[in-house]
Amino acid sequence: MRGAVAVSTDRVVIVGGGPGGYEAAHVAAQLGARVTVVDRDGVGGSAVLTDCVPSKTLIATAEVMSDLSGAAELGVVFQDDEGDAATSIRVDLARVNQRVKQLAADQSEDIARRLAKDGVDVVEAVGRLDGPGRVVARAADGSEQVIEGDAVLVATGAAPRTLPTAQPDGERILTWEQVYDLTEVPTELVVVGSGVTGAEFASAYLNLGIPVTLVSSRDRVLPGEDADAAAVLEDVLRRRGMTVLSKSRMESVTRHGDTVRVALTDGRTVEASHCILALGSVPNTAGMGLEEAGVILKDSGFVNVDRVSRTSARGVYAAGDCTGVLMLASVAAMQGRIAMWHFLGDTVHPLDLKKVSSNVFTAPEIATVGWSQEAVDAGEMQAEVVMLPLSGNPRAKMQGVRDGFVKLLCRPGTGIVVGGVVVGPRASELIHPVSVAVAESLTADQLAQAFTVYPSMSGSLAEAARRLHRF
Ligand SMILES: Cc1cc2nc3c(=O)[nH]c(=O)nc-3n(C[C@H](O)[C@H](O)[C@H](O)COP(=O)(O)OP(=O)(O)OC[C@H]3O[C@@H](n4cnc5c(N)ncnc54)[C@H](O)[C@@H]3O)c2cc1C
Repeated sequence: MRGAVAVSTDRVVIVGGGPGGYEAAHVAAQLGARVTVVDRDGVGGSAVLTDCVPSKTLIATAEVMSDLSGAAELGVVFQDDEGDAATSIRVDLARVNQRVKQLAADQSEDIARRLAKDGVDVVEAVGRLDGPGRVVARAADGSEQVIEGDAVLVATGAAPRTLPTAQPDGERILTWEQVYDLTEVPTELVVVGSGVTGAEFASAYLNLGIPVTLVSSRDRVLPGEDADAAAVLEDVLRRRGMTVLSKSRMESVTRHGDTVRVALTDGRTVEASHCILALGSVPNTAGMGLEEAGVILKDSGFVNVDRVSRTSARGVYAAGDCTGVLMLASVAAMQGRIAMWHFLGDTVHPLDLKKVSSNVFTAPEIATVGWSQEAVDAGEMQAEVVMLPLSGNPRAKMQGVRDGFVKLLCRPGTGIVVGGVVVGPRASELIHPVSVAVAESLTADQLAQAFTVYPSMSGSLAEAARRLHRF
């Protein structure tokens, strides 16, 4: 419980206005500090302007398409104006993308308004450190101002990784930041990279009706996620017509007129009208005077931080994607808040990654929290595991949902819930009770005791918890 914190007279300078930066700014302002945010591209950061918000807005349209594709089974019939059966539904990609960009811009403005209300100064400029407590902000017109701070928070995020042999051209070879400039629907799309970002875009565009080939260097999609969940997703994607090329490493991506050619290291090639590169991210830390200010970077360029977001330089904190700790907006925001609670002397709980819930916004969605089955199988954690397919859930049957499951992990003996996975529609919403259980060290019995609505998908979570009961 936070209580009587003396109002601060400190000055805080934040470089980067994404969730790591703006959430920290709110906390610091609330605690009385004078706060300046230096941002070069617009507050909200990549999270709001190019990554998280735009992709989830695009996926909202893809979800409607996915729901419609299952509508016939539920007795919904589409007719054209003459009363004949309509044979196809079409997506107007230009309209979708316009909505995406408008929503992102509006969200950025909302954040700017909230910051202004909290008395936070926002400076539109590129920031760099000139020693631990000094930030030089260079505006677009070349003018510079020096902003001194008792603490500096670096929250500059990350950018899409590209390769010399796979250079985006912004027209047909695209990073995830460039897809919203497409005005015409790709006739065929190749997505290179089957991590979370690659899988989300591949699933979304497939549901928008575009033939998709997913190039995956590993033997399955989503190598970092629960193996059962990834298997369900891959099966669904293949059934819906996606070509998934496993164990296929991209060597180069080149443009030939209106065609894009993806060459694989084994000599095969894939051709399509467009290609999205989802090759991971590089931190925005180069040329910022960080090492000169005593901030130790990893070889990969990410900032080294501890669990309260301190860097190796006194008074310099770092949060979000530039630290590479866990590249999620929610984690960036928490790292930023933690930095300010720590610096300004409020109660602070160090970051605990085992309590982070996350979601892959594919169809079906994959939501996860806490310890993984992989860690259990590797002997890093002892846990009992129960997995229940959603196909047996009454609500799932009513909705025509066949793919997906819930999985719960609890400690033997105490029965404390230590992790869970939900695969299914709206898994991102369903994971919350498991997340609460993990955060509060509830037992499977306690989770099972709470009423669930009948019929509901969450009934499967309670059922899984009941199956973990030991007499
Ligand atoms: C396609 C995609 C989808 C995603 N979806 C989700 C999701 O659904 N849920 C989720 O939790 N996470 C999601 N993420 C991850 C999420 O977007 C990031 O974790 C989040 O943006 C990190 O926030 P941040 O504050 O560290 O950095 P950013 O949001 O990148 O913000 C950093 C800001 O700093 C600015 N900046 C950089 N250098 C300087 C400088 N020198 N001076 C001034 N300003 C500078 C940048 O322009 C930017 O505005 C997604 C990522 C991608 C790529």
